Amino acid sequence: MTELLKSTDYVDVYRMSRDKRKIEGKVKVGDMKRLAETASNHDDIFDYVITGMTGKLGWSGAIMELHGKVAVPCNRCNNPVDVPIDREVVFRFAKSEEEADTIPIEEDDDTEVVVGSEKLNVMDWIEEEIILSIPLVPSHDYACLDKEKLNKDDEPLEKENPFAKLKGMKFNK
Ligand SMILES: [Zn+2]
Repeated sequence: MTELLKSTDYVDVYRMSRDKRKIEGKVKVGDMKRLAETASNHDDIFDYVITGMTGKLGWSGAIMELHGKVAVPCNRCNNPVDVPIDREVVFRFAKSEEEADTIPIEEDDDTEVVVGSEKLNVMDWIEEEIILSIPLVPSHDYACLDKEKLNKDDEPLEKENPFAKLKGMKFNK
């Protein structure tokens, strides 16, 4: 059994990048404080794989893969809606906030810049990426299911069921 990621798990991103080290495991939605505030199901689990790499121009980086889902309140009906998240993101580690600000963002380049650390909190890093992946206005794909309405619609349907009528006639004889 893979152990769940803990809020006290750290990684030296520069070493990870240099050694092309891979860290992987599972992380529970309920363990991520900010996400847990809005998530409807705290038992949802994400799989993550983070692999150290070096960029074309020699910068330190990593590729993060995230697979899982998080249930959040629907914007229309407030019932939980599952948001599947399957992401593969390339990160470039900046040495400081200042350096991060000076790294030009190229078009058609979806590399994300984060300030690296010899002690980066892995859970915070993953949580941030999950939060960024949730749409601003999450809602159900189809018409939202209103349970009360559904029940009301069901009743007349059952009364008009032709087979129910036939059954009744048979038994009346
Ligand atoms: Zn809905």
